[in-house]
Amino acid sequence: MTDFNIILRDPHRVRPTDVLIRTVTEAFEGLAEEAGRPLNVVAGSPMSGAPLDDQLAITFVGNRLRLGERFIGGSNIGLILGDEGGAAVYVGALLEMRVGGGPRGVLVPSRYRGGSPLDREPARLEIDYMSQTEPVFENGEPELARAAGNVAAHELGHMLARLGHELDLGNYMADGSAFLRRFPSPTRRDLRWFWSGRKSWDPAQRQRLVRVIRSGRIEGGLQAIPGG
Ligand SMILES: [Zn+2]
Repeated sequence: MTDFNIILRDPHRVRPTDVLIRTVTEAFEGLAEEAGRPLNVVAGSPMSGAPLDDQLAITFVGNRLRLGERFIGGSNIGLILGDEGGAAVYVGALLEMRVGGGPRGVLVPSRYRGGSPLDREPARLEIDYMSQTEPVFENGEPELARAAGNVAAHELGHMLARLGHELDLGNYMADGSAFLRRFPSPTRRDLRWFWSGRKSWDPAQRQRLVRVIRSGRIEGGLQAIPGG
């Protein structure tokens, strides 16, 4: 049986690169084994003469995004992180992710200072500006590499077997809108947990992916997934 190759083009945009490669490998090694094909996840150069229709290559591009911005709930966490059904992961979009969602703050109520009833400290809003400006991920952190690897596995799920989106946040095919449904006002920790956490395939997805890997007939190709 021939090897099952996944080529990561320009993976060095994501550091630590070995964590990225390991994350993609973990997503597919069990499936490839079940399909009876040895898996190779290899680093390739951006346009190393590989044919453009090489559907098992996924490119890590520095662009923030290419397809237009998409804001959900007033925050930028709905940015497109990958080319849905295509073959690109937008590393720049992961690096630009912010908690966002408008100013967050706590209302500190008015209080008496003592003495005259009129002598009170006015109520004030303490705004947390850091949540607006602090990146969720920084390059060089294992969490960033795992998040990029999870996005790559998600896009490969679309490409290989036309897998649709899932609501289970631990599934590779959960997307940003499933996350926002559960966490309408996510913290930085929630975002890091969702994007960089350990993911899995459900039994039906496994079955479809194993079938595709075994047959070598890619179902999704480079076609866009409606509503992706
Ligand atoms: Zn998707």
